[in-house]
Amino acid sequence: MRKKIAAANWKMNLRKEQGEQLLTAILQKNISLKPHQFAIFAVPFPYLEMANEKISGKINYSVAAQNCYHKAAGAFTGEVSAEMLSSMHIPYVVLGHSERREYFAESNAMLAEKLNLALSNGLQPIFCCGEPLSIREENSQNEYVEKQLRESLFHLDAEQIKKVIIAYEPIWAIGTGKTASSEQAQEMHAHLRKVMAGKYGTDLANELSVLYGGSVKGSNAAEIFSQPDVDGGLVGGASLNAEEFSQIISALP
Ligand code: PEP
Repeated sequence: MRKKIAAANWKMNLRKEQGEQLLTAILQKNISLKPHQFAIFAVPFPYLEMANEKISGKINYSVAAQNCYHKAAGAFTGEVSAEMLSSMHIPYVVLGHSERREYFAESNAMLAEKLNLALSNGLQPIFCCGEPLSIREENSQNEYVEKQLRESLFHLDAEQIKKVIIAYEPIWAIGTGKTASSEQAQEMHAHLRKVMAGKYGTDLANELSVLYGGSVKGSNAAEIFSQPDVDGGLVGGASLNAEEFSQIISALP
């Protein structure tokens, strides 16, 4: 069975004590996860250690970084490398979030370098892709997202690609309250799986977890997650609320 994942993306929010309280409140609910279910918290860099300590011993609860730099090491003041994350025992890293693509000019080629560094340092990437509204309006979202996969992922071999989690996040649905319908999500997820199958074969494509992101809430998570090619969600706004995110974790199939 494919891994089903509820991933929280805190973005640049919360003071440290607020983050601790949020994690405590979620963990106190003691939502037990089946072997194929995972809850991942992508927290700001300064909180990684705190979050990792808090979830230690909690089965299938993990921590992710929200980014890493596309160079291995050196004179890059203020940046954080994949090796640093690995040395802190952080298992996952979110790469290519649309906010990073937009505000920090992250290109598909740069993301290919980040994926290489993440994987060679033993991190599992959560690779984000998704189209802006203008592309959806001209109905060329399939080609747009396929290009993102081709240019950032297709140089990886089968063993590497098995470690990658894909998150489809239509930009027009992020933080807007506008969710893709479950049919729109399913349609794109099936397309992504087909693209991956074309390159890596059907068996491998069927093993990949593909998350949906874009205004997932406690009230719509179960419906979205019930789609056959949707393997959970990457959640921004609603992950900052303990009740909401607990509901989302509980909605994992
Ligand atoms: C995100 O930031 O990845 C996201 C999906 O945000 P939101 O849930 O707030 O739309």
